[in-house]
Amino acid sequence: MNVYLDNNATTIVDPQVFAEMEPYFVQKYGNPNSLHAFASDTHPGIKAGMEKIYVGINAPREDSVVITSCATESNNWVLKSIYFEFILTGKKNHIMVSEVEHPSVITTAKFLEGLGCKVTYLPINHEGIVDVQSVRDNITDKTALVSVMWANNETGAIFPVEEIGAICKEHDVAFHTDAVQAIGKIPVDVQSFNVDYLTFSAHKFHGPKGVGALYIKKGRELLPLLHGGAQMGGYRSGTLNVAGIVGMGKAMEAAVEALEYEMTAIRKLRDSFEDELLKIEDTFVVTPREKRTPNTILISFRGIEGEAMLWDLNRAGIGASTGSACASEDLEANSVMDAIGAAEDLAHTAIRFSLSRYTTQEELDYALRAVQAAVIRLRGISSSYAYTPKGHVSGLAEHH
Ligand code: PLP
Repeated sequence: MNVYLDNNATTIVDPQVFAEMEPYFVQKYGNPNSLHAFASDTHPGIKAGMEKIYVGINAPREDSVVITSCATESNNWVLKSIYFEFILTGKKNHIMVSEVEHPSVITTAKFLEGLGCKVTYLPINHEGIVDVQSVRDNITDKTALVSVMWANNETGAIFPVEEIGAICKEHDVAFHTDAVQAIGKIPVDVQSFNVDYLTFSAHKFHGPKGVGALYIKKGRELLPLLHGGAQMGGYRSGTLNVAGIVGMGKAMEAAVEALEYEMTAIRKLRDSFEDELLKIEDTFVVTPREKRTPNTILISFRGIEGEAMLWDLNRAGIGASTGSACASEDLEANSVMDAIGAAEDLAHTAIRFSLSRYTTQEELDYALRAVQAAVIRLRGISSSYAYTPKGHVSGLAEHH
């Protein structure tokens, strides 16, 4: 049996999404900017796709949604545009990001730091949630941007973006949130709180890879990302990714339709899978369930290297993760485990299981048996497990 439990890395494309995209490859292939029927054949699809995206996040028409190639691009754009407009010109000198942002924010922030921008890395608490007080404590009239993700990709922890957005508004500071892991998992409504920029990516909600977006509130315009033929309102030149826009639109519509199912049925599946995993001795989770997206579990199995567990699971046909897929080649400890100060022996033992609306009970039953077998095998050959001192571990709920 093959079981895919790595949906925070990417998701299967919804067949309905694929079906809507297909005509835009070999039938309706015109360049939307040309002046003939091949071009105008693409216009209804683009219009409908964009409409569905606006509706999906409840964006007012006067605001902008710019289609990019991925969330990494959207995140880079926000930070670098703010740098060019406010930091380089000397109007402001400071930005804030949480210390557990995706690498597309963290490494961009570090790059800007190298160019002279002051960066505050906001800490997370013992539950893996960003500390709102640190936003209040560090914001000044020289702060140009606060960028805090909505939901963390590793733990699923939901961050208090409403509160942070309110603090930013009070100080007239731009607020960006990376909502990649929020879309399709929790309600996302850009009018329900103060947010200026919001990033998302189609392949995380059963849309195609290579299509991201950035929502930009009116009055908080950014500098153009790509200069050229002035597509996407001049923000991002380049021939439009027509099939991608159609696909993201359909994926957004389907994600909104499935949201209730995700928040009830998938949450229930996740919770009962987690209950069973926690029955295994010496297992730990960081963020309480009710403070997480409904599909995610980050769990440590004491004495078992995450990579060893992944190896065993992979041989059983199960795809899971040790954390961010982008960091999986450099065998570093899971960044959230690091940030909460988990003991070294636990920081390397975290495994992430992330479900989707396609996940079934049968798949989870199979995965559970594979995890149980892997734990017995790997602890059996571990030279350190039997000698690891047990007891309370800072920041982690312990289960026996
Ligand atoms: N932000 C978060 C929170 C993510 O989880 C990811 C993907 O792992 C990204 C950004 C990057 O997304 P993309 O693959 O579209 O660049």
